[in-house]
Formats: sequence, structure tokens, C-alpha cells
Amino acid sequence: MTLTEKDSQYLWHPYTQHKTAQAPIAISRGEGALLWDENGKEYIDAIASWWVNPFGHSNKFIADAIYKQLTTLEHVLFGGFTHEPAIKVAERLLEILPENQQKIFFSDNGSTAVEVAIKVALQYFFNKNEKRTTIIAFENAFHGDTFAAMAASGISFYTQAFQGMFIDVVRIPVPVKGKEQESFEALKNVIENHHCAAFIFEPLVQGAAGMVMYEPEALATLIQICKEHNVLAIADEVMTGFGKTGKTFAMDYVSQDPDMICLSKALTGGTIPMAITTFTQEVFDAFYDDDINKALFHGHTFTANPTGCAAALASIDLLQTNEMQANIERINKSHLSFQKKIENHSKVSTARTLGVIFAVEIKSDSDESYYGSMRTKLYNFFIDKGVVLRPVGNIVYILPPYIMTDEQLNKVYKTIEEAIDMV
Ligand SMILES: *Cc1c(COP(=O)(O)O)cnc(C)c1O
Repeated sequence: MTLTEKDSQYLWHPYTQHKTAQAPIAISRGEGALLWDENGKEYIDAIASWWVNPFGHSNKFIADAIYKQLTTLEHVLFGGFTHEPAIKVAERLLEILPENQQKIFFSDNGSTAVEVAIKVALQYFFNKNEKRTTIIAFENAFHGDTFAAMAASGISFYTQAFQGMFIDVVRIPVPVKGKEQESFEALKNVIENHHCAAFIFEPLVQGAAGMVMYEPEALATLIQICKEHNVLAIADEVMTGFGKTGKTFAMDYVSQDPDMICLSKALTGGTIPMAITTFTQEVFDAFYDDDINKALFHGHTFTANPTGCAAALASIDLLQTNEMQANIERINKSHLSFQKKIENHSKVSTARTLGVIFAVEIKSDSDESYYGSMRTKLYNFFIDKGVVLRPVGNIVYILPPYIMTDEQLNKVYKTIEEAIDMV
């Protein structure tokens, strides 16, 4: 049996209708921005393997750090024990996060980082004897697939089978250009009419919605409104964190600091699953008490896994090199000139760029759904050409590893242009 045949016999893939889906491609090796399948066909990974890999596949520097940690202390439980890698990650992160962030809580993936933030927000008010149980979130938000994260997510594709089983979430419009006032008014309205605990948002870019972008000033206003009403602000930087928007965190563009920040994806350079939720001292203090019932009774077996921490430390080292910062700038400039070129194309409705994130919307007659026919046609075209891109309906986005060469990037652009002409 081939790998693909064995796969179809044994495995269940994420976001996949196995009856109609094409067989998956078996990847056997990766290096830099490139992947090779079992037949030796080469692919450019233009979406950094679901946004996790900034420094390239099979990165030696991170691999060495992981090997060293694995042969020193691979894992120890974090209940009642601590270790240097976790403390170092906390120290490094607190140096680069918004100043008001003071406490670090470890978990395993982006969804759990969000799950922890939402549970902390709800228990924060429980501990203070205040009845606040509503979470505010954006339309078309994506915060993950565990239950609270899913409740906060607004893309029906992911959540429709579970309607009626969620915590209370009220949605407001995203403050995209021209809709700022509507978004501000909606937020005030929700806060007035519900007992709101927290507002969770993807800062500046809604990833899974198709790289929908909005301005830092609008987000600052929304956070300001939350602060005036003692509603906690949760920045979900799972996608935007670690350089994707051109700054280390998207919140670095925003004049108001959030109460909590969720991190994962690029945290370990795309190597080991790990996540972090960070908090202000004020949030932490609501759990700090002689009463054990006020403690946060949440944890995961692999919390603060030392090997994951070693990968995170190596990744932060790489991110902070001049070389990597120059790469981010280079890709941003390159995206902006491609945007200029493509946005006047007769089949393009809009194009947008922030940091290394680029998105182009292709005109279409029908309201293209997430996995509609245009999406399938585009996806297959890209794969055929050896470029890994996963369009969201009629939106094609690029989120490359920062080490992608100009030559590779130009091939990605050229392939997108050909695809636009083809559909
Ligand atoms: C991917 C993502 C998540 C979920 O992370 P997982 O590791 O897939 O659970 C949450 N929030 C945002 C903004 C994301 O992009």
C-alpha cells in the first residue's frame, strides 16, 4: 500500500469530509520554505504550514536547542515543580509583551490559550462576586475549536452543529474602514444590555475570516470603551504574534493594552505544540487568596513542557536577530509592490497587506463559501504548480516563512496572477 492508501484506511483528518475530499499529499521532507512529497515533487510553503513556521522547516538552530533539552530534562510535571526553561520563556516574553502583562500561564495549543483566557475572565468576576457571564466577540471571529473558543468563534462552518450548547456570546461588527462607528455603538449597546465579562478579538487581522484587516485606532477605541465599563479585553494573538504584522505583536500598534493575551502557533517556530496566556497583575490578584476555591483549577498534563520551552526560547532568539527583522521588512515591501500591481486587475476586488500578511479578493458572482467551487479550483491549481496556498472562498492569502527567498516569493506571486487569470 502507498502512504496515501494507508492514510485513507487509518486516519481521520481535520476539517475534512472524507467522502468527497481528495487524498492528502504525503510529505516526506522540509527545508527552509520548501516541502517535498513522497514522489520528490517540490512545494513552496506559502502559508507557513497554517501560520506556525517563521524560520523555515527543519531549522537546525531550534532542533539543536530541542535536542539539548531532551537530553537534559525532557519533561517534568508543572504542579508543584518548576524549571529554568519555563522561567526563561516568561522572562523573555515579559520583556517584549505590552508592559502591563505580568503573569504567564502555559497550555498546549491556540484553542486552549483562548479557553484559559475565557475561563479566567468568567472566574475573575465569580471570585469578585459580580454576575458577569457574557463574552463579546467579533462577527466572523476565529478563536479555536474547543468549546469556549468555539463559542467565541463566529464562522458558522465550524460551530453550527453545536448551536444552543454554548456559553453566552454576543457579536459586534468588525471596525473595518467605514464601519468603525457602527462597531463602537454596538459594543456600547452590548455592554449596556448584558452582564459582560470580556471582549475577545483578533487584533488588526482576522486570520481564518480571510485576513480581514482593521486599524489600530479603532481597536484602541473599543478597548477604551471596555475599560470604562470594567470589561476585560482579551487579545487573541495566536495568529498575529511573533512578527507577522511587522511588529512583534499586533498589540504593539495599539495605544491601549489588553488585560490578557493568547499566544501559540509561531511561539515555538512551528516545531512543538505549545501555548501561553498572559495576564495583568490585577487579573492574577483576583485569584490570589487564602480561599483555595478562588484558585484557577485549570491545567494540562504537558503544561510548560521543558522541550517546548527550549524551542520557544530558540525561536525568540531567531526572531530578534537583525537578519530576521530585515526579512520581515523585505517581505512586507515585496507584498506592497505586488499589491499595487494586482489591485487594479479587472478580476480583483481588493488587496491588502500588513507585515508579512498579504490577501487578495477575487471578484465572484456568487457569495463564495469557505469550501465553495472557486476555492477548490484555486487550491488544485496552486498544488499542481507546487505552491501551498489555502484560499478562503474567493480570498487568496500569503503568510510565508520569513526566510522565504525573493525568488520563491516571486514564484508565489506569479502563480497567484496565473490563478486569477484562470478562474
Ligand atoms: C489558529 C488559531 C486559534 C486556534 O489555535 P489551535 O492551535 O489551532 O487550537 C485560535 N485563535 C486564532 C486567532 C487562531 O488563528
